[in-house]
Amino acid sequence: MSYGQVEIYSHGSTHTIHETCGHSNCNEKILEALGVGEERYSDAYEFEVGEATITVRDHLGESDSCVWCYGCGDFLRHANASPRPDGSYFGCRCGDPKSDREPMEPMVDVNGSLELRPFK
Ligand SMILES: [Zn+2]
Repeated sequence: MSYGQVEIYSHGSTHTIHETCGHSNCNEKILEALGVGEERYSDAYEFEVGEATITVRDHLGESDSCVWCYGCGDFLRHANASPRPDGSYFGCRCGDPKSDREPMEPMVDVNGSLELRPFK
């Protein structure tokens, strides 16, 4: 199982990426929320939903912000794009970029967009 991402592409560009820990339950939860029916999960990695193409990848891209799994809320990784001279990364504002952060509340639907929120 490796970390991955679910990418949503439409009208000529990628506009949303949902990161995932790679667990099949998490991937399916995200796909389901995006309108991919259960019968289509199996071994495909690309789906057409309306005018959008949804692609499941088995790796994370570089990210300029820290990353949590949308399915279960686990912390995955600190930002790793745009390195700074001191060895840290531009988007990461963590006090200690070596240690994990708190998990997030798993994906919720907020007026049609999928979001992660801190636990209250
Ligand atoms: Zn997960």
